[in-house]
Amino acid sequence: MTDQGTLYIVSAPSGAGKTSLLKAMLADTADVQISVSHTTRKQRAGEQNGRDYHFVSVDDFQRMIVQNAFLEYAEVFGNYYGTSREWVQAQLDEGTDIILEIDWQGARQIRELMPACRTVFILPPSNEALEQRLHGRGQDDEEVIAKRMAAARREMSHYDEYDYLVINDDFEVAKRELQAIFVAERQTTNNQKRRHAQLIDNLLA
Ligand code: GDP
Ligand code: ADP
Ligand code: 5GP
Repeated sequence: MTDQGTLYIVSAPSGAGKTSLLKAMLADTADVQISVSHTTRKQRAGEQNGRDYHFVSVDDFQRMIVQNAFLEYAEVFGNYYGTSREWVQAQLDEGTDIILEIDWQGARQIRELMPACRTVFILPPSNEALEQRLHGRGQDDEEVIAKRMAAARREMSHYDEYDYLVINDDFEVAKRELQAIFVAERQTTNNQKRRHAQLIDNLLA
């Protein structure tokens, strides 16, 4: 297992800013990939199939469940969301670090399967700010926003199951804090041993 990449999980209530923070952070970080989930929810304006999600029908999703194609899956806000087992395994086997943007139910399943994963929870500065962000994003109608706000407290109640907690109040501060987690995690002796095996061999020869 020592030559495997690190698996990270990032969870947050819808609208807390996980997608925008991760996008901003990854713009200047190499060797880490975000997993593209499968979902049965409707594609939003501006979303691209295969980049933001693999958008599939409920029938296709259920077929994939039967084929054991998901490392984890869950029903969130009345839609199915799932992570591709094959893709995750291939990336980790290549030594690439990956990030799963998944809900708390999915995080629980992954922790059982892969106890070495590292997990981060993102909280908004207030419930009012969360609602404003969902409106400001301009992607979901009133009914969907109400559903997401109603589910937010339940999602947030699981913050304590995660290794790290970031409050996304000021975007730049939260981005730096998130970045610090990934940078520090890379410098653990276990991960450095894997990354710099050749150097360490040479130094100790
Ligand atoms: P957003 O987070 O507000 O942009 O909304 P999304 O519709 O993108 O995601 C809805 C919920 O599904 C969130 O709680 C995600 O963390 C979760 N989710 C997304 N992809 C997956 C997945 O592959 N597996 C699981 N278990 N949850 C997912
Ligand atoms: P999530 O992926 O968690 O659902 P998004 O990344 O889509 O959240 O962010 C939701 C909305 O809030 C977006 O319009 C985003 O631009 C905005 N947003 C994110 N972080 C902040 C912040 N720190 N301050 C103000 N607005 C933010
Ligand atoms: P959205 O529909 O706004 O893109 O995502 C809503 C929620 O679904 C987010 O909180 C996100 O974390 C969760 N989600 C997205 N993909 C997955 C997935 O593959 N598995 C699980 N369990 N949750 C997911």
